[in-house]
Amino acid sequence: MINTTDFYINGAWVPPVASRPCDVINPASEEVCATISLGDQADTNAAVKAASEAFPTWAATPPAERAAFVAKILEQYNKREEEMAQAISVEMGAPIDLARKSQATCLPWHLENFLEAVEAVEWDRPLRDDAPNDRIIMEPIGVVGLITPWNWPMNQVTLKVIPALLAGCTIVLKPSEEAPLSSLLFAEFVHDAGVPAGVFNLVNGDGLGVGTQLSTHPDVAMISFTGSTRAGTAISKAAAETLKRVTLELGGKGANVIFADADAKAVKRGVLHCMQNSGQSCNAPTRMLVESSIYDRVVDEATEVAAKVNVGPTSEPGRHIGPVVNKSQWDKIQGMIQTGIDEGARLVAGGTGLPEGVNRGYYVRPTVFADVTNDMAIAQQEIFGPVLSIIPFADEAEAVSIANDTAYGLTNYVQTADGARRNRMARALKSGMVEMNGMDRAAGSPFGGMKMSGRAREGGLWGIEEFLEVKAVSGWDIAAE
Ligand code: NAD
Repeated sequence: MINTTDFYINGAWVPPVASRPCDVINPASEEVCATISLGDQADTNAAVKAASEAFPTWAATPPAERAAFVAKILEQYNKREEEMAQAISVEMGAPIDLARKSQATCLPWHLENFLEAVEAVEWDRPLRDDAPNDRIIMEPIGVVGLITPWNWPMNQVTLKVIPALLAGCTIVLKPSEEAPLSSLLFAEFVHDAGVPAGVFNLVNGDGLGVGTQLSTHPDVAMISFTGSTRAGTAISKAAAETLKRVTLELGGKGANVIFADADAKAVKRGVLHCMQNSGQSCNAPTRMLVESSIYDRVVDEATEVAAKVNVGPTSEPGRHIGPVVNKSQWDKIQGMIQTGIDEGARLVAGGTGLPEGVNRGYYVRPTVFADVTNDMAIAQQEIFGPVLSIIPFADEAEAVSIANDTAYGLTNYVQTADGARRNRMARALKSGMVEMNGMDRAAGSPFGGMKMSGRAREGGLWGIEEFLEVKAVSGWDIAAE
């Protein structure tokens, strides 16, 4: 493994201009697992300069050649996937099987999808058949700053870096300071894939430092951000002065609407999905809306399922959940569980404090509240922990009204055997994504939200187009092509 205190700038590992060490804590042991550096303005400037200088050549590189470099990143991953899984597990607390089977594998999954999607980009085409001298040219936007969170670290890095590379942009990546190890390893993959110097740069740092420096830098054309709504707002304001394009993937408070005719596995699936990754997924179905006629049975079943969700060491294989990422998240989640109790919701599983037998690590008890009303804080605020709120509804209209009564709009879920109702619900729910009857969205489907969940669409063709400018030309000479 590389020296974690260096940055990757202009094709080389370089020490920070000024020493600002920052410990990375393994949330399972509460011990330091690595030390990184927090970058300064001078480090950010050096990375942006390298990216700016590399841009004209990379932008002019034929798309197929850029795709060939991306394919080589995949070759590097294939040689070192276990290292990637270990890095993710240690930095953010994913149990090793989750890290191996879900977290690390986001890289090949998205990368392969993007290699397919890029074939569909129309880089250069006539506007219409009857306007042959009007040309539409798609061009890379320029130097892009990519700012990513810790919860699915390789997922978010891949969803940004790969389409930016394919589009012809050059990059400065600032991964989360909580989970920088997977990104440092990723930078090695990029280097070993032979991606030209300056095309991809990585500077570690915190939000107020490197994050803000990138958001305000005059030579950065676009910020692609995934993280909290709070930081998304701050970045939008910071980027306004230079009128950057800002794409935002933010938080969520997904409703999972369970009708009386839902399939037999719907409740279990919903509870486990909420608890997966210790509840640290922006698209987690954290509000379970249940038709009144089956409400009591569903509460009993959800209680049983949650009671069987094991919490265990990250190093052990198995389907248990691990700790949450850090002490401040642990404290915040504890506070939210207490708030739920104080608000009068009925605690049916879990609760405050460490799980039984655990005395170290930021582990949270899988928690379920019943009899939640949608105006309670636990129904409105993103908790980002393994905490489910169950809310009854009388009919379809009320289900839609409760589901949409939130500041967020990322993913909603629907469980019903009635196809016509599914289609009606899909149209009525205000969210960037609606997933029904446990069917995953297919490869290339755009990921993104509405309202306070942000404005961006990642993945597939949409994910590449985010990094492109549309140039409209008239007077194009077809004969001279
Ligand atoms: P966070 O917003 O605190 O940090 C995310 C990244 O932004 C980090 O790299 C951080 O250093 C940086 N940052 C923080 N403040 C900044 C600022 N003012 N300017 C520039 N950069 C700044 O979020 P987090 O705690 O790392 O991640 C959890 C949040 O991310 C949750 O709210 C979750 O819902 C959201 N999330 C959303 C998606 C999505 O696609 N919609 C995916 C994953 C996570």
